[in-house]
Amino acid sequence: FRFSRRPDIGDKVRVSFEFFPPKTDEMEARLWDTVTRLEPLKPKFVSVTYGAGGSTRERTARTVKRILNETTLTPAAHMTCVDAARDQVDAVIKEFADMGVKRFVALRGDPAAGVGTIYRPHPDGYANGAELVGALKSAGDFDISVSAYPEKHPESPDFATDIDMLKRKVDNGATRAITQFFFDNDLYERYVERARRAGIYIPIVPGILPVHNFTQVANFSSRCGALVPAWLAERFEGLENDPQTHALVASAVAAEQVLDLVERGVGDFHFYTMNRADLVFAVCHMIGIRSHEAEAAGSAAA
Ligand code: FAD
Repeated sequence: FRFSRRPDIGDKVRVSFEFFPPKTDEMEARLWDTVTRLEPLKPKFVSVTYGAGGSTRERTARTVKRILNETTLTPAAHMTCVDAARDQVDAVIKEFADMGVKRFVALRGDPAAGVGTIYRPHPDGYANGAELVGALKSAGDFDISVSAYPEKHPESPDFATDIDMLKRKVDNGATRAITQFFFDNDLYERYVERARRAGIYIPIVPGILPVHNFTQVANFSSRCGALVPAWLAERFEGLENDPQTHALVASAVAAEQVLDLVERGVGDFHFYTMNRADLVFAVCHMIGIRSHEAEAAGSAAA
């Protein structure tokens, strides 16, 4: 690690956190523990995902509302347009806007039958992420983030098609792209270069996934087209039944990735928290992002 750079990193780096809406009371309690722990790190925004086919619409709305009412955080609501007519999508946009939501993450979504099945737009719906961005743009003055895929989306036949879709989203009003998670920083850098060459100048914020459970991540990665490098598998090898070491290795791996991206000039990071605070908190600490409480305690001790 390049610890020598640590003291000045915190000034340059900004973070955002992603949560998913909880299904049970127990999961809800865990999410709020996580939110409470991460809130003092003052993220730029926190986003709340939207389940396949809008299946979590109410839970997403409830979580966003609670963040608005009970925290100092700025929520961003994810929205998808899969399996929904335009008027249904427009009604959800209005519901969020009436609540006071000013930030959205606009996505196409996957078919309810799951990743890998052929996507067919709803006959009266928005066809893809770019059309949803257009709908949001005409509904209000919102900050709109979209997805980007450093290893290209599995449905994109090539990088040119993939980048073209990102360009359409930007042309329709997207102000930031957040990437699918990845573990090889060279792939991210190459993707950003391709986007810049195509005239895309919005921030392309790396999505960082701290590896809470390597086996799960490896299974999930193969379905969403993200490569799990052999070196990563080796790092977690044999730790299936050793959660403590697994967590230590995971925070080292994520910190190493983020510090390398900082070295490459990246200043914004989006963390897929999986509704857990520990790894994200540790990595933020390593890149100099501290809660005021922690700083105050540190100076009192000094
Ligand atoms: P788009 O950007 O619209 O398209 C992705 C690619 O597919 C394009 O590059 C294009 O080449 C190709 N494509 C698009 N439409 C067509 C078509 N009609 N025919 C052929 N090819 C086409 N999913 C959720 O359900 N809820 C969430 O909250 C959520 N949050 C996410 C957050 C981030 C940061 C990311 C990266 C992904 C998220 N996803 C979420 C997953 C996302 O919905 C899936 O990856 C989905 O398969 C694509 O949605 P998109 O908006 O990226 O698609």
